Amino acid sequence: YRSKEAGKGTYTIFDSSMIEDHKRKLMIANSINSAISNNEYRVHYQPKVNQNGEIVGFETLLRWAHPILGMVSPAEFIPIAEQGGKIPAITSWVLEQACRDLDKIKAIFPQRFRVSVNLSAFDLRNPALFDFITNTFDRHNVDPRFFELEVTESAYLESFAASDKFFRRVSNMGCAISLDDFGTGYSSLGYLTQISIDTLKIDRQFIRELDTSERSRMVTGTIIDLAKRLNLTICAEGIEQEGQIAYLASQGCDHMQGFYFSRPLPLEELANLPRRFEIPGQNESPQLNISY
Ligand code: C2E
Ligand code: MG
Ligand code: MG
Ligand code: MG
Repeated sequence: YRSKEAGKGTYTIFDSSMIEDHKRKLMIANSINSAISNNEYRVHYQPKVNQNGEIVGFETLLRWAHPILGMVSPAEFIPIAEQGGKIPAITSWVLEQACRDLDKIKAIFPQRFRVSVNLSAFDLRNPALFDFITNTFDRHNVDPRFFELEVTESAYLESFAASDKFFRRVSNMGCAISLDDFGTGYSSLGYLTQISIDTLKIDRQFIRELDTSERSRMVTGTIIDLAKRLNLTICAEGIEQEGQIAYLASQGCDHMQGFYFSRPLPLEELANLPRRFEIPGQNESPQLNISY
């Protein structure tokens, strides 16, 4: 292939993997439209637990069984949906599904919990988002206090004034807001004094490095401390090992989420979750030193 821009006598080599990547992207972009009508999406729910091992929430995570490509990760198709302007249909489908499932989840878990839905930057640019969310809650007759919206720092800050107004309204009706993947953006911390959120979710990257990096432990401890000083709830995501829990508990982390507790599960499997997770070091019988 002779590249025009590169000038005479130069060649740009496309290896077959680039062509394959491009084909795959196109295929994903083209089939996003029909995924809903072909019933290819599923919502999975991943539990979040508190320091006592009780379930306090479930994050909705979208799953797509593509007819040709098999399971496609949202990490791959959400950015493609963003580029193609396909996010509103996806967000609406996930929120609808979560509203439809809420009563079934309540029947299994009698405690207060929140179901969180991930919003993308594209959603926050949509001026009709608030009305759309309230309409959905109203139509399903669900209490917004059972819901939470997760948004990344960069999405929030991209359109700060509009986002902030939106989240204040959302908050006023009782729906919570969490800042997802916290600590991975490049923004200054100044905005934290103005933002209206309830929870900071520490990114998995820090949790992954807890056992190996003293610096990651210090940063994680500092983020937890920061959240507490700001009176925010702090949630750690991506917990896979017992040792990570011990450190997070020692720092007073409120909520935890990760494969250690459970992978994201389809609704039908939520009933198999333990009513209370064992938190290493917390559920042991107290060391009583009784002498007669
Ligand atoms: P996220 O919102 O930060 O979600 C957490 C991701 O970490 C999920 O990946 C989850 O399955 C994964 N995870 C949870 N625990 C562990 C763990 O212990 N170890 C490891 N290695 N991973 C863990 P998933 O489901 O592939 O989603 C990736 C991203 O795609 C999400 O990141 C979110 O940004 C986006 N996403 C997923 N569902 C939706 C959706 O319905 N709407 C939008 N807009 N974005 C979504
Ligand atoms: Mg999330
Ligand atoms: Mg996250
Ligand atoms: Mg993430």
